[in-house]
Amino acid sequence: MYVDSHCHLSFPELHARLDEIRAAMAAADVDRALCICTTLEEFESVHALAMAHDNFWASVGVHPDNEDVMEPTVGTLCEWASRPRVVGIGETGLDYYRLNGRSVADMEWQRERFRVHIRAARGTAKPLIIHTRSSSEDTLAILREEGGEQAGGVFHCFTETEAVARAALDLGFHISFSGILTFKNAADLRDVAKFVPMDRLLIETDSPYLAPVPYRGKVNQPAYVPHVAAQLAELKGCSAEDIGRATSANFERLFKVAEAA
Ligand SMILES: [Zn+2]
Ligand SMILES: [Zn+2]
Repeated sequence: MYVDSHCHLSFPELHARLDEIRAAMAAADVDRALCICTTLEEFESVHALAMAHDNFWASVGVHPDNEDVMEPTVGTLCEWASRPRVVGIGETGLDYYRLNGRSVADMEWQRERFRVHIRAARGTAKPLIIHTRSSSEDTLAILREEGGEQAGGVFHCFTETEAVARAALDLGFHISFSGILTFKNAADLRDVAKFVPMDRLLIETDSPYLAPVPYRGKVNQPAYVPHVAAQLAELKGCSAEDIGRATSANFERLFKVAEAA
């Protein structure tokens, strides 16, 4: 019924409890999940999850926050993306939230890394999983410069304005909402969610982070994604099951999981 389109099950706090997490997913009608890669060093363990379980898939990419890690090339990303059950490129993008004393100009390495991912996504015809924080203008500008609309993809864990959502939708991208949508102080974001069309919506947990209400502050897991669906249902005036069906169909279409199975 529900798909968690973005989670980090290779992270130790979740990986150590995988049996329990899979049982909780089944009990909550969360039948599928996309396991997201954040470093090349981590890729084999993310990929192993997708190879071991027929309801998990994997991505390949290097998160913009990760420094002192292997730097991806277009060649490596394309090669690893061609392995079975790898359905997306990312997570990638820009994050100017923690500059650690640097200026935006100093973050050229992030912008270059993002360009490499877009080129790989175009080269493999796999969608981009985009992380953008305090950097939406540059994220959109680089996507346009690099022809990112030819690859398409998703703006994950969306926390930006309606104007940014509109620009992402105009480029053909999907918008994914996380547990943040359920937070008390997220009224503006709930207004943005109302505006995103049903056929471009995805839901995610971004576990182990950002557990939705009523689990806020706890370790997140895919079994909690129906709480995001329930919040969206309230905003859209439909049932959580309707959101589950729509976001699952969007997931299948965007990531072409049937072909990757
Ligand atoms: Zn992210
Ligand atoms: Zn993530």
